[in-house]
Amino acid sequence: MFVLTEFPLPYPTYALAPYISQETLETHHGKHVATYINNLNNLIKETSYEPMPLEDIIKKSATLPDDKNIFNNAAQIYNHDFFFHGLCPDCNTQIPKEIIESFGNEENFKTMFKNAATSLFGSGYTWLVRDNGALRIINLANADTPIVHNMKPILNLDVWEHSYYLDYKNKRADFVDNFLNHMVNWDFVAENLKQ
Ligand code: MN
Repeated sequence: MFVLTEFPLPYPTYALAPYISQETLETHHGKHVATYINNLNNLIKETSYEPMPLEDIIKKSATLPDDKNIFNNAAQIYNHDFFFHGLCPDCNTQIPKEIIESFGNEENFKTMFKNAATSLFGSGYTWLVRDNGALRIINLANADTPIVHNMKPILNLDVWEHSYYLDYKNKRADFVDNFLNHMVNWDFVAENLKQ
């Protein structure tokens, strides 16, 4: 059984204001993530999934169409925990050199990431991943996650409407700009690049 306290926010719910309001973070973490956890617990109860670690549940259920609900809820727990750890409140960390070298310069990286995040149709995440050694920006729909595609996640942005709608309404591009310019925890990104 999973519990929300295993996946805590690494900062208080007010810490990202004004870029993400306390109300949004309270709802996003305290209600949306809590619901995915509750759903997953109900779905795996008394099944072979019950004793498994979260990442194993995600990888196994991804291969079994009948277990799509299990995959969706498990992957959403993982994707959100990753997303929240990739944020920090104006913490002045430096964009890693490898990203600048891979994308030419910081501006080009941000433009490419923004173009991906604003063009994702429907719900999903924009990801920076390492794929066969190379850094790539990709969009994955709904709960889909790089760890089932042999890609290493480096950074993600949740562009499900619940992620920004209370604060930005339909202006996803403004949310993406604030993410890239004020909220990314580049120390977290640098750690992921090392592993
Ligand atoms: Mn979300």
